Amino acid sequence: MRLTVKPLKQKDAGRGLAAVDRASMRELELENGDYIVIEGSEGRKAVARVWPGYPEDEGRNVIRIDGRLRQEADVGIDDRVTIEKADVQPATSITVALPQNLRIRGNIGPLVRDKLSGQAITENQTVPFPLSFGPMSGSGQSVPLKIANTEPGGTVVVTDSTDIEISETPAEQIDGQAERSEAGPSVAYEDIGGLDSELEQVREMIELPMRHPELFQQLGIEPPKGVLLHGPPGTGKTLMAKAVANEIDAYFDTISGPEIMSKYYGESEEQLREVFEEAEENAPAIIFIDEIDSIAPERGEAGGDVERRVVAQLLSLMDGLEERGQVTVIAATNRVDAIDPALRRGGRFDREIEISVPDKSGREEILQVHTRGMPLEEEFDLEAYAENTHGFVGADLASLTKEAAMNALRRIRPEIDLDSEEIDAEILDSLQVTERDFREAIKG
Ligand code: ADP
Repeated sequence: MRLTVKPLKQKDAGRGLAAVDRASMRELELENGDYIVIEGSEGRKAVARVWPGYPEDEGRNVIRIDGRLRQEADVGIDDRVTIEKADVQPATSITVALPQNLRIRGNIGPLVRDKLSGQAITENQTVPFPLSFGPMSGSGQSVPLKIANTEPGGTVVVTDSTDIEISETPAEQIDGQAERSEAGPSVAYEDIGGLDSELEQVREMIELPMRHPELFQQLGIEPPKGVLLHGPPGTGKTLMAKAVANEIDAYFDTISGPEIMSKYYGESEEQLREVFEEAEENAPAIIFIDEIDSIAPERGEAGGDVERRVVAQLLSLMDGLEERGQVTVIAATNRVDAIDPALRRGGRFDREIEISVPDKSGREEILQVHTRGMPLEEEFDLEAYAENTHGFVGADLASLTKEAAMNALRRIRPEIDLDSEEIDAEILDSLQVTERDFREAIKG
């Protein structure tokens, strides 16, 4: 049976889950908690734990999996996959390798077991380990754990009685399958909150032509070369560009408007040329131009000689892009009316998407993203914080959760040695972020 891949909701990502609609579950004789093998393109497989889908998916033959599982099975959204029941053994023991710069004192085993419990894992796999504290983490982030060994071998599920061993060798030094797009951004659609319909538009404008150029050729329509995202700072424009690039495994490069304008005479154009050249060589590719208004201000608005030359260069580079949509330029601005209208004409940035300040449900999704993996106290009411943060954009909510986590850290500060590069496993395990930490963070 073939199911169509869709993204998971923000709050359900990162736990190895596959949400399958109930009718499909019945047909496949699956029960809640069963493990399945999801087979994507070219035999690539991922193993997940089934869970009855969202009510709105009923009868749609849908499987929702997060960015990591999509990457493992090498599938994108709206692709079809086949699934079958997997026979996974409970793990008697697993060996995990931590990244080199994460130094833990004491036994982190119980914490790892707790976070991985119920997840199906395979030798050599890299799994994200949510960790809200420590040198590598920010809110909602996770560190990559490498599964160095599993007993028995193959795909196993971590249970309460699995022994967790920590490898002496750091994750970076363990061979395995080459990680894909290691240099690229690893933002998944599930890491973006409150922008579902905007993401849908971006996908249609960029992802579709990149993945299926033949459709566009057949219809004789030109995919867009440039898409302009506009809206207030911190609403997720950069995040969105990175997520699209990541989902389609495209090469990604960023040009910062102000930075390119600060170059010496002639260097700005040179750098633009180089970025476009690299992108074409590495296509499919996405070039992200942040703060494009500083490169191409509306003529008359402080537009001098330099701006004119750089804009001319940018326009000629865009006009020279092949028409098959394999290189797309995404530009972002907070001041859509302040950019040179020549850029917004046909064949250039002729598609525009407005990214606005999130509403309450958007804020709730964003908070879910940034508290994912955070040890929140039980019965924490995230919705209340979505309610109380009117006017906050994504970046504000990200700093709010970070600040709340810092408050939690300050509470236990007397117990920790901040000079030490190691973190104590016991302290990590005992950390909890409470309502009070959030209340204080809001007060600022
Ligand atoms: P912009 O490009 O619109 O100025 P960014 O995409 O750079 O904003 O956002 C900055 C940070 O704020 C992101 O890295 C992320 O942590 C957070 N953020 C912003 N918008 C969102 C969102 N919609 N969902 C989740 N996080 C967000």
